[in-house]
Amino acid sequence: MPFCPKCCAEYDEGYSVCSDCGCGLVDQLPAPPEEPTPHAMHPVLLYSTDDLNSKILTNILEQEGIPVLARSKTLAGDYVSIYSGYSVYGKKLYVDQADLSRAREILENFLAVETPEDESQEDMSSRRLRKRALTLFLIFFGIPLGSAFVIWIIGLLSRFFV
Ligand SMILES: [Zn+2]
Repeated sequence: MPFCPKCCAEYDEGYSVCSDCGCGLVDQLPAPPEEPTPHAMHPVLLYSTDDLNSKILTNILEQEGIPVLARSKTLAGDYVSIYSGYSVYGKKLYVDQADLSRAREILENFLAVETPEDESQEDMSSRRLRKRALTLFLIFFGIPLGSAFVIWIIGLLSRFFV
């Protein structure tokens, strides 16, 4: 069967020119360019934590180029998060099987803060994460606010001396 190499239309035997494009027909269409096979993700559970932490962790992992799937722990969690933007049930984070060991490493480095002993693994990690979140919060808001406050005080004081 002749084909038009341009518009890929198929013609009956006997035709030699495409009526639409005017170009000569060929017996076989050129092979389509080799497309990279889309990377199929095999999600593996990485971590289970509350909503805030899952957002922080997702951010960190994605900055390292690791795609993260976050799922609510329960259906009820989904329901709650629709209405409040926050799920008390927390999230389960999944990463691709191929990324798992690297993701774990990043996570462990991130969570490597002192360990209270009398809590379950998940609660410990959540607490450590909360500490990190607080530190980040202080860096991003505390320092600018503190500086603004100091500048304000200096401004007030300078009125007495000018
Ligand atoms: Zn054509």
